[in-house]
Amino acid sequence: MQLSREDEQFRDRLRRWLAGSLTGRFAALRGAGGPGREHEAHDERLAWNRHLAAAGWTCLGWPAEHGGRGATLAQQVIFHEEYARSGAPSRVGYLGEELLGPTLIAFGTPEQQRRFLPAIRAVDELWCQGYSEPGAGSDLAAVATTAAPDGDEWVITGQKIWTSLAHVADWCFLLARTQAGSRRREGLSYLLVPMRQSGITVRPIRQLTGTSEFNEVFFDGARTRRDLVVGPAGDGWRVAMGTLSFERGVATLGQQIGFEREFGRLVEAARRTGAAADPALRDKLARAWIGLAAMRAHALDTLAAGPEAAGAAPSVLKVLWSRWHQELGELAMEVLGAPSMVARGEPYDLDDWQRLFLFSRADTIYGGSDEIQHNIIAGRALGLPRQARP
Ligand SMILES: Cc1cc2nc3c(=O)[nH]c(=O)nc-3n(C[C@H](O)[C@H](O)[C@H](O)COP(=O)(O)OP(=O)(O)OC[C@H]3O[C@@H](n4cnc5c(N)ncnc54)[C@H](O)[C@@H]3O)c2cc1C
Repeated sequence: MQLSREDEQFRDRLRRWLAGSLTGRFAALRGAGGPGREHEAHDERLAWNRHLAAAGWTCLGWPAEHGGRGATLAQQVIFHEEYARSGAPSRVGYLGEELLGPTLIAFGTPEQQRRFLPAIRAVDELWCQGYSEPGAGSDLAAVATTAAPDGDEWVITGQKIWTSLAHVADWCFLLARTQAGSRRREGLSYLLVPMRQSGITVRPIRQLTGTSEFNEVFFDGARTRRDLVVGPAGDGWRVAMGTLSFERGVATLGQQIGFEREFGRLVEAARRTGAAADPALRDKLARAWIGLAAMRAHALDTLAAGPEAAGAAPSVLKVLWSRWHQELGELAMEVLGAPSMVARGEPYDLDDWQRLFLFSRADTIYGGSDEIQHNIIAGRALGLPRQARP
C-alpha cells in the first residue's frame, strides 16, 4: 500500500499519542482482552476506550457527518496496525463501532443515526449481536425468534445463543420474524433492543477456556419501540447481510499484527526451549511465517479492491486466518512439549499458549464456519452450482 506524507505524519501522531497514553493507570492494560480473554479488566478497558474516543481515535472510517474522521483506507490500516503494535488492549466497543455503526449509516433513519451513532462513537453504549439461535447458526434463515407489534412497540419472544458480550451490552441488534407464518429470508426484521429490561435473561456459557464471553439470551415478552427497526420491517435479511459484509474489514490488518506478535513470541520460546533445533518444528515455524506473509498480501489486495470487487476474497481470508491461527495454537503445544498439557493451577489457570490453543478451536466456527466459507468459494470463485439443502 502506497503511503503519502500525510499518512506518515498520521502514523507519527498516532504512535506518539499511544505511547504517551498507555502510561499511568492504563499501562497495566497492555495486552489485555481479546478473543478468549474478554473477561479481563473490562471496566478499565472501557475507561481506556472512552479515553480513545475523547481524543478522536474511534470510528475513524465513519464519514465526518456521522461523527467519524472520514479517514482514508490507508489511515485506517495504519490505525489498526499501530494500535496492535503498541500492545493497547482490545477494544470493548468493536461490535458497535465496526458492525452496527456502519449498518446504521447505510440503512438507518436520520433519527436512528442521531440517537445511536454518538453513543457508539463515545463508547457510552455497548452492543451485542443477536443472530444465532439453537436452530439457526450457519443456516441463519431458520431464525425462529418472533417480534409481534403491540401498539407502538414490538414484543419479542425466543432465544439467541453464542451472543458475545451480551452480559455487558446495553443494546442488542437482532434478527426476528415479524411476519407471522413467513419462512426463510422473508418476513424477518432487524431490531434494536434495549438489554436491561425484565423480559430478557442473559445466561453465560462456560467455554473451553473456563471463561464466559458468550451467552444464551432469552427473550420472554421483551419490548422495544416500533420505530427501532432498521430498514423496512420484513426486509431484515438484506440489512443483516449488510452487517456481515462489514465484519472485520480493515481491522483484519490489526488482527494480523497481533498474530505476528504471537508468532514472534513462539519463535523466541522455540529458541529458549531448544525446540528450534528440531528439524520438523523448524519446518513448521518456517511454514507459519510464509502463511503470515500470504495472509497479509491477500488482506491488502482485498481491501484495496474494495467491497464491490470482493467476490470470494473475504471467505478466502477467513479460511486463511482461522486455519493459520488454529495451527499456531497446535504448534505452540508442540514447541512447549509435555508441560503444555498441564494447567498451572486449578481450576483453569491457563497460560497464554494454552488459552490460545483452546480458544482458537472456535476460530473456524465464528464469523461463518470454514465449511460455509468453502461453499461460498465453490460458488463465487469456481461457479459451482449451489449445494442442495437437506
Ligand atoms: C467465539 C464465538 C463467538 C460468537 N459470537 C456470536 C455473536 O456474538 N452473535 C451471534 O449471533 N453468533 C455468535 N456466534 C455463533 C456463530 O455465528 C455460529 O456458531 C456459527 O454461525 C455456526 O453456527 P452453529 O454453531 O449453529 O453451528 P451449525 O450451523 O450447526 O454447524 C455445525 C457444523 O456443521 C457444519 N455445517 C453447517 N452447515 C453446513 C453446510 N451447508 N455445508 C457443510 N457444512 C455445514 C458447520 O461448518 C459446523 O462444522 C459465535 C460463535 C463463537 C464460536
